[in-house]
Amino acid sequence: MQQHLSINDEVRKFLSQDKLLLIDGQWQESRSEKTINVENPANGDTLSQLIHGGQEDINRAVEAARKAFDSGPWRSMTGSERSRRLWKLADLIEQNTDTFAQLESLDNGKPYTVAKAADVPLSVDIFRYMAGWSTKIHGKTIPLSVPYTPDSSYLSYTLKEPVGVIGQIIPWNFPLLMAAWKLAPALACGNTVVLKPAEQTSLSALKLGELIMEAGIPEGVVNIVTGHGDTGSFLVDHPMVDKLAFTGSTEVGKQIVRGASGNLKKVSLELGGKSPNIIFADADIEAAIEGAANAIFFNHGQCCCAGSRLYVEKSVYDKVLSGVCDFADKIKLGNGFDLSTQMGPLISREQFDKVCSYIDSGKREGAVVQAGGSGLDQAGYFVKPTVLAKTHKNMQVVREEIFGPVVAAIPFSSEEELIEEANDSNYGLAAGIWSQDVSKAHKVAEKLRAGTVWVNCYNIFDASLPFGGYKESGWGREMGDEVLNLYLETKSVCIKK
Ligand code: NAP
Ligand code: MG
Repeated sequence: MQQHLSINDEVRKFLSQDKLLLIDGQWQESRSEKTINVENPANGDTLSQLIHGGQEDINRAVEAARKAFDSGPWRSMTGSERSRRLWKLADLIEQNTDTFAQLESLDNGKPYTVAKAADVPLSVDIFRYMAGWSTKIHGKTIPLSVPYTPDSSYLSYTLKEPVGVIGQIIPWNFPLLMAAWKLAPALACGNTVVLKPAEQTSLSALKLGELIMEAGIPEGVVNIVTGHGDTGSFLVDHPMVDKLAFTGSTEVGKQIVRGASGNLKKVSLELGGKSPNIIFADADIEAAIEGAANAIFFNHGQCCCAGSRLYVEKSVYDKVLSGVCDFADKIKLGNGFDLSTQMGPLISREQFDKVCSYIDSGKREGAVVQAGGSGLDQAGYFVKPTVLAKTHKNMQVVREEIFGPVVAAIPFSSEEELIEEANDSNYGLAAGIWSQDVSKAHKVAEKLRAGTVWVNCYNIFDASLPFGGYKESGWGREMGDEVLNLYLETKSVCIKK
């Protein structure tokens, strides 16, 4: 029986309020007259209106962040005090799990059940994990042997200091989680932030802003300005911003690098992917089939690390292909508020058109549709889980990121040929290997040029495990202790004894 969730009172109240900008600890109006319509992608309903922030809004937000960094209490607070407030924020997010899961489902289209089981708990975890780091950031003492002053001795040590004002720009596929991945480490290290959420999905970031203030994070430490790409570009260009952290497409990532060159602000990038997922004949085939389907269809294929190139050893290719197609055909598409829904709509009309045109280009170039292959003829931006066979390595659907539920299934005969094809991509974000031969799995994992390799699993994320890309998939790593490098400067101090 279909069970349809009702909007809870908190979400109803939040949706009915004016959406303002969080600047200097206050919810502020904008001088910009422009607004953004917030749409539910499952049915086209209007949920709310956002401010389309302009240059003047970004200026005010950056000035607030600058003031909070240069003279506010955040940076000089003890690590323990910063930790307590970040932990409190994690508790508040957890207490509001239902509200966040509903907002994510309405705004992004993903099933409520998925947002509740994955997006919200992972967001809570990263704030708790990073809260722990606030008290563990320190430099080291370094013995010197300076050749040109042999008679002197020195005490030398390094200090780890926050970088300063951080601009953060995030995409729409995991709205709350992307905000959490960005904010938690920046704040743990003592930086201040201006966050620009994606124009399609800013609701959970604004709700998070309320909780940030409630958690006692001082005014001006986190500022949130909603808007389009141009709002983001004002942040990229701003001379008072010390560092820009971006998650989104490789194309915009390249624009950001160019824009940041004005004051040579530091840049970290989490970009696109075209990840190979490899099934060897000696794999547990049933587990591999389910894993391959989830690797591409989770979050409707709108994952930067989606396993969108499925390489299968020839002797098991037909079996795997038919298993993945069966899986695809059974996925229940629907409104994310129906508790039985397994896959919601894509985020927007634009994304729907883009994904459908990729499917058409695959067909034109000779790919054979084995499952799905079109959108649903109804309101909302639903695309059927799609499996393409008879693809070859020069097709657009094999080379380019589709960012939708479309997988190309490709047979391989030798390990050598496989490694060459798997690495034949401008991207290098993630990869999967399915095999029961431990030695082979280790060897192949070493040869793959990717920031994450999952073996006999896929899409496993943890606050302690670094995530990021080789090649055009990005610069730097999110999460784990590695992310701290992105938000800290190292100062060397040398004292003559
Ligand atoms: P996008 O167009 O690159 O947008 C990402 C963010 O950048 C949005 O907030 C966007 O604002 C903003 N933006 C757009 N143009 C800008 C500009 N010129 N200057 C500054 N900011 C600008 O990407 P998307 O379509 O939202 O997301 C899908 C892409 O992100 C995919 O390619 C995917 O692979 C990648 N992604 C990567 C990761 C990762 O961890 N590596 C995670 C998620 C997504 P608007 O909202 O107005 O466009
Ligand atoms: Mg929306």
